[in-house]
Amino acid sequence: MSYIDLRSDTVTRPTPGMLDAMTRAEVGDDVYGEDPTVARLEAKLADLLGLQAGLFVPTGTMSNLLGLMAHCERGDEYIVGQQSHTYKYEGGGAAVLGSIQPQPVEMEADGSLDLARVEAAIKPHDFHFARTRLLALENTMHGKVLPLDYLASARAFTSARGLGLHLDGARLFNAVVKLGVTPYEITRHFDSVSVCLSKGLGAPIGSVLCGSEAFIDNARRWRKVVGGGMRQAGILAAAGIYALDHHVHRLADDHALAKRLGDGLRDLGYAVEPVQTNMVYLQVGECAEALRDAAAKQGITVSAAARMRLVTHLDIDGADVERVLAFFASQR
Ligand SMILES: *Cc1c(COP(=O)(O)O)cnc(C)c1O
Repeated sequence: MSYIDLRSDTVTRPTPGMLDAMTRAEVGDDVYGEDPTVARLEAKLADLLGLQAGLFVPTGTMSNLLGLMAHCERGDEYIVGQQSHTYKYEGGGAAVLGSIQPQPVEMEADGSLDLARVEAAIKPHDFHFARTRLLALENTMHGKVLPLDYLASARAFTSARGLGLHLDGARLFNAVVKLGVTPYEITRHFDSVSVCLSKGLGAPIGSVLCGSEAFIDNARRWRKVVGGGMRQAGILAAAGIYALDHHVHRLADDHALAKRLGDGLRDLGYAVEPVQTNMVYLQVGECAEALRDAAAKQGITVSAAARMRLVTHLDIDGADVERVLAFFASQR
């Protein structure tokens, strides 16, 4: 029996083609700026996003942290969604390591932040307050794609107020494929963008932070400070390049399978949220743990949460989705 892991799109294994690219990678010491494969990945992604420079880091958490630290100084503040990864799921790193105060605001159902709410959270210029410097958005947010016209208004809003605009684009390419646009159509609105290679793109490790030359110089310094300077990291960057070359368009397959899974679960009577990309959310209430345990006996791994998240990815195919639906049918 093969195993089906729906907890996240981070659980994928490198494909033979990716492993081959990794073993063939040309490498050097990247702390000395001498790893050609890392340089190629950074330039490739910056170019795709229409930004000047990129910085390869081990994780999305570090990428967001360095982004926040490059935008904000001690005693500055960033405005962020209450459920955003940078605020809620990164150990409070901006505050702990950057002395940056987060100002969370409630989020809208579509994953955006109401700009009137953001406006109300901006602090006056007065020494009683932290200095508001930055707005941080997330796209996709819990699998939802932020509308392009919203991004344009967020850009106009932040520019008019002298604020920076950062995108946690861990799953940027899911939004790109869903909208059928170039990455630049999304990223042109932002000063900085963090992209994960280790989610739907299927690399084992790695994120890239992109922004202006000066911004990335600053972030590079902070990367060393937090211990993220890596040596022959081209082995890992090669996986990222391979992922960008081979695993972007196929995200459409993940989206189609998530839709099939969501529709099937709804037909079985489950309360399923509308599916946009590769995430299916369903309400299972108190059954979460029983479902997880029963699924495990069938070789299916899910997280036990009342609002259960099922994620499709590179290692899930159509037959897997049918097996998952058969399992959920058996639990009604
Ligand atoms: C996974 C994720 C991150 C962090 O990435 P890690 O590599 O797990 O540290 C940041 N933001 C979002 C939205 C994510 O899903």
